[in-house]
This record gives sequence, structure tokens and C-alpha cells, in this order.
Amino acid sequence: MDKNLHVVVKTPDDEDVRVNHIAWDEYFMSIAILSSLRSKDTNTKVGAAIITPDHKVASLGYNGMPTGIDDTSIPWARSAEDQLDTKYPYVCHAELNAVLNATKDLHGCTLYVTLFPCNECAKAVIQAGIKKVIYLDDKYHDEFISIASRRLLELAGVAMERYVGRIPNIDFGDVSYVARQG
Ligand SMILES: [Zn+2]
Repeated sequence: MDKNLHVVVKTPDDEDVRVNHIAWDEYFMSIAILSSLRSKDTNTKVGAAIITPDHKVASLGYNGMPTGIDDTSIPWARSAEDQLDTKYPYVCHAELNAVLNATKDLHGCTLYVTLFPCNECAKAVIQAGIKKVIYLDDKYHDEFISIASRRLLELAGVAMERYVGRIPNIDFGDVSYVARQG
């Protein structure tokens, strides 16, 4: 790509400045959703964004095989006769990846994640000093891993909040992107 290429986002001139933007929660959950699209998991794509108290992105992650391992060399199956032929012993969850990817201190941060964290990720979240989890989906709510996760997070004083904002439009809605040389 030409290093002088500029991308301009255009919105209508007469739009109200108070409403022509997405809220912080919508912004960060959008980033988590976008991150999930990087996942090669054929069944559950999960994305995570860790945000500082002053609204800066501290880290991102999505579920995938450990670094350096070819995504096709390990199975993505959810069930098999032998558990070693499923994805579970190998895949790194989005939240764990986000914690491990961070280049700055995560104390006091908020985790935005597209699926409620499992108990293993809850441990990483707690140890990193993250103070709030905002999640989109909670499809494993009644399963052992979620029950244990809630217990851990609650005991550690990590707030849990279901995302109630708009689900962002990943086709980026009606804004237009104009690429020009200059
Ligand atoms: Zn997990």
C-alpha cells in the first residue's frame, strides 16, 4: 500500500454532534467483535479487548492455537472418541491471549469479551488485576465452567456486567470510506 494513502470517514454534515458517534461501550465491544473475526475456530469465535480506566486499548485477543503452531495441524473438533482429537486441550482462549498480549499493566482495566469467560480465563483476569468484565453472550451460563468462573470473579471483587448497548454493525453502517492519494 502507498504510504501516502489517506482514508477519510465521511458522515453527513448536518448530523447532530451529540449523536453521530458510538458510545464507549459500543466502541470497545465492536473491537472485541472485530477481534473475534480473526479466530479460525469453526464453531465459536471469541474476541476480547482490555481497556484502561481512561478509555485506551491495553490489549486485544481472540481464540486460537498457541503462537507458532499451524492452525491446521491441531484438530478444531468439539467432540471425538479421544479427547486428544478435540480442540480443547490446545486452544488458547481470547481472554487469556489478551492478558498475555498486553504490553502494559492491566490493573483497574475492563475486559470486553464476546462470550462470558470460563473459569481458567477468570483466573488470568483476576491475576492481571482486571476489575470489570463486560460480556456479550452467556450461552454456557449454567455449565460448570461458568458457575466456577462467576464464583471466582465475585470472590475476587471483579464486577460482571452483561453488555446492553447496541450490537455494532460490522459492515460499518452508512459511513463511507474514501481512499485518496495525497
Ligand atoms: Zn477461557
